[in-house]
Amino acid sequence: MQDHVTPRRVVILGGGFAGLFAARALRRSPVSVTVVDRRAHHLFQPLLYQCASGILSEGQIAQPLRDILRRHHNVRCLLAEATDVDVQARLVHLRLPDGRAMELPYDDLIVGVGMRQSYFGHDEFAAHAPGMKTLNDALDIRRRIYQAFEMAETATSARERQQWLTFALVGGGPTGVELAGQIREIAGHTLEREFRTIDSAEARVLLFEGSDEVLGAFGRPLAERAARTLRGLGVELHLGTRVTDIDAHGLMVRHKDGAVTRYEARTVLWTAGVEAPPVATALARATGATQDRAGRIAVEPDLTLPGHPEIRVTGDVMSLNKLPGLAEVAMQSGAYAGRSVRHAVEGRTKKQKPFKYVDLGSAAYISRGRAVLKTGPLHLSGFLGWLAWLFIHVAFLTGFRSRLGAVLSWSVAFATNARRERAFAMSDADAPAEPAPEQKAPSPSA
Ligand SMILES: Cc1cc2nc3c(=O)[nH]c(=O)nc-3n(C[C@H](O)[C@H](O)[C@H](O)COP(=O)(O)OP(=O)(O)OC[C@H]3O[C@@H](n4cnc5c(N)ncnc54)[C@H](O)[C@@H]3O)c2cc1C
Repeated sequence: MQDHVTPRRVVILGGGFAGLFAARALRRSPVSVTVVDRRAHHLFQPLLYQCASGILSEGQIAQPLRDILRRHHNVRCLLAEATDVDVQARLVHLRLPDGRAMELPYDDLIVGVGMRQSYFGHDEFAAHAPGMKTLNDALDIRRRIYQAFEMAETATSARERQQWLTFALVGGGPTGVELAGQIREIAGHTLEREFRTIDSAEARVLLFEGSDEVLGAFGRPLAERAARTLRGLGVELHLGTRVTDIDAHGLMVRHKDGAVTRYEARTVLWTAGVEAPPVATALARATGATQDRAGRIAVEPDLTLPGHPEIRVTGDVMSLNKLPGLAEVAMQSGAYAGRSVRHAVEGRTKKQKPFKYVDLGSAAYISRGRAVLKTGPLHLSGFLGWLAWLFIHVAFLTGFRSRLGAVLSWSVAFATNARRERAFAMSDADAPAEPAPEQKAPSPSA
């Protein structure tokens, strides 16, 4: 029975778009909300590539959760990783930053833990081909991109120089396309006249995609326009290809006809797949909920888990009607879950309508002044697409300061091609360098 002195305890796992919108929907409810996240910040993932390419700073795309929620007096934030859920005792098991364990009781649990990078069973690729899901990933990619030009400048042979000046992207979705466009712009414009030995504009950008088109989710006309724009920028598209191996010096690629080619590239970036974090599997096991191949948890039409009306799963990690992993889906499902709890607390007896996603469209930035946007019957590309992209991102960036800062940075980048956020240092992992495959010393058994 509900204790009338203690307010109902709502635990939200994840302070991404889903968790944040759930917390906001509960702002005026007489409930006690705890937002648990392993990061201290809310990350605007759609702009990670702009941080990686040096247009935006970390602070412009990541805002402290405590700051965002400071006026939500019934909400507290907890920096911790959820490791398991005891659905009988209604407890979330947490690991604190210093390794201590903690148990957090709940009356309602809203799960919005998102998805993480997947290498489709080839986790060994991660060392050579970072993905882009976190702020650290973006900063690592920034260092790898700009450092590759530095390495090319001091290369001792033409072959080595070319390896450093070749960038390979795996995955032709929005992130792969956006990064490919950015690297060509960096090479052709940002770094112009900065180096003495190399011509940065000679950098090659190779984009590998398993299907026959990039940006397939945008439909064929926009996908074709995006491909034309990328080719115009100098991006080399390798469609219908599968990456079968990656090492420090390049990658092996299988083509549709079965032929396998090796491409030499010292910078390989992975944007190809996602999988659910371990806590999602722990929750599915504890509740008997089913997961799809990537580990997303199947939910009822009201986002609860079968047999567990007190647990709601939202955002990227929920599986419902094949909804895509988009920020807008996460925001709407998070807000819906928050409202459901609010209605229950208010004692509303009318059954809530099932969750219905309102598709506001999607957009991908290709290069300065060029983007594609699909919203209902409206398909935009080129400069108009870019203007629409700009409007949407300004509207959705969290916080006035982030918005203002981003608009200023975009104005500078658009007007002058300059990228102000290029600070990086050598990482300790740089030395000693792994020898190229054919330069390796023979093994004792050879
Ligand atoms: C590079 C990139 C570009 C994208 N571009 C676009 C775009 O252009 N348009 C678009 O609509 N969408 C885009 N997306 C997708 C969009 O960002 C996601 O759909 C959205 O972020 C999902 O929100 P979420 O709240 O479900 O998950 P997330 O935003 O991933 O948030 C999940 C949160 O849960 C936390 N967490 C995870 N595990 C635990 C745990 N065990 N304990 C505690 N906390 C945990 C994480 O730290 C994180 O803060 C992009 C994504 C990426 C990675």
